[in-house]
Amino acid sequence: MGLTTRAPVQASRFRTSTEEYMATVADRVFNFSAGPAVLPVAVLERAREELLSLPGVGMSVLEISHRSPAFDAILERTLADLKALLGVGADHEIVLLQGGASLQFSMVPMNLLPGQPGAGNYILTGTWGKGGLKEAQRVGAAHVAWDGGATNYDRLPNADEIALSDNPAYVHITSNETIQGVQWPRLPDVGQAPLVCDSSSDFLSTPVDISRYGLLYACAQKNAGIAGVTVVVIRKDLLERSPDSLPAMLDYRTFVSKGSRPNTPPVFAVYVLGLVCDWLLREVGGLEAVARQSAAKAALLYETLDASDGFYQGHAQPQCRSAMNVTFRLPSPELDQAFIAEAATQGLSDLKGHRSVGGIRASVYNAMPVEGVQALREFMNDFRNARG
Ligand SMILES: *Cc1c(COP(=O)(O)O)cnc(C)c1O
Repeated sequence: MGLTTRAPVQASRFRTSTEEYMATVADRVFNFSAGPAVLPVAVLERAREELLSLPGVGMSVLEISHRSPAFDAILERTLADLKALLGVGADHEIVLLQGGASLQFSMVPMNLLPGQPGAGNYILTGTWGKGGLKEAQRVGAAHVAWDGGATNYDRLPNADEIALSDNPAYVHITSNETIQGVQWPRLPDVGQAPLVCDSSSDFLSTPVDISRYGLLYACAQKNAGIAGVTVVVIRKDLLERSPDSLPAMLDYRTFVSKGSRPNTPPVFAVYVLGLVCDWLLREVGGLEAVARQSAAKAALLYETLDASDGFYQGHAQPQCRSAMNVTFRLPSPELDQAFIAEAATQGLSDLKGHRSVGGIRASVYNAMPVEGVQALREFMNDFRNARG
C-alpha cells in the first residue's frame, strides 16, 4: 500500500490559543494591507507544521500530485466547506480557477454576453468595477447603469438612480470596493437580470444569500487565503450561455465538468483556502460569527473618525462604509505621511491609502485580531492629541 493511500489530512487541528497568539504576535506586526493580506496565525502555524509532511501522507502539499488521494481529499473538503459557508445549493455550481479576479473581468462577459439580446450592465462604485467594465467593452455590448465617479466613488446609488438598459445580459456590481472602502449593505434590486458580483474583498466576511446571485466571484488573497486561486459560484442555467468557440480554459463549463481540475490547480493556494474555510467553520463559528466580529472591529475605527472633530475625514459616506477597508484622510497630505510613518514604528503596518484616493486605508479582514484594531485606535487618538 502506497503512502498516499493512508488517511487523508485530519480534520481541524488548529492549536493557537489567544495567549499563544499574543506571544506569537510579539514579533509580528499588525498588517493592515489591502491584499495580499493578513492570514489567521492559526492557519499559518498549521501550514508550517504540515509543510514538511502532511499527516498520513509523508510529503508536503507542495510536492504531491494534484491527482493523488491526498489532494483529492483537500480539494473535496475545501469545496464542501465553501458550500457550507456560503450555503450553495442545487441551483449553483462552485469552481476554483486561476487568473485572479482580473481574469473574471474577462471570463464573465466572454461566457455570459454572446448571443444575449441586451448588454452587460455595470454599476460602478469604485476602481475595480471600472476594471470589469473595461474588459466587458472588449468583448461586447456593455452599459454603465450608474457611475459614482462624480464624487470620487464615495457612495452607492439610490434605487432610482440605477438606469439599466433593456434586457440586461447581467448586472455587475462590486460588493466591496477595496480602494474606496465602499460596501453594499444589501444587494440592489436588478429585476430578472442575473446579478454578477465581484466579492473579492468581502468574500467569507458575512453570510450571503446565494439564491440571489447569477454569478459570484472572488480572488482569495484578500480575505480567504493567498493569491493563485479564485472562487466562482455560478447558477447552473447560465452555463448554457457559454459559446462553444471559447478556449477551454476560459469556459466555465470546463471547470464544472472537470471538478475544478482540468489541469494542475494551484495546490498550495487551494490548501490554504481550505485551511481558512476550516478555521472559519470550526474555530470562528461560521459567517454570522465572523460578521459580528468584523462589524465590531470596523465600528471601533469609524467611531474614532466620527469623534475626531474632523481631524480624521472618512472617504466613504456613512451608509456605505466598508467593514473591510476603512478609508480616511488627515487634514493634509503631510500629516497623512507622518501618520503612516509613525504608525509603522509602532508595529502598525501598510496603512497607506491607494494613490487614487490618498490618505489612509486600514484593511481589517477576518484575520485582523481585535487587538490590532484597538492598537490602531489608540494610535489614532494619540496622534490627534499630539498633532491635532
Ligand atoms: C484585489 C481585487 C481585484 C483584483 O484581484 P486580482 O486577483 O489581483 O486580479 C478585483 N476586484 C476586487 C474587488 C479586488 O479587491
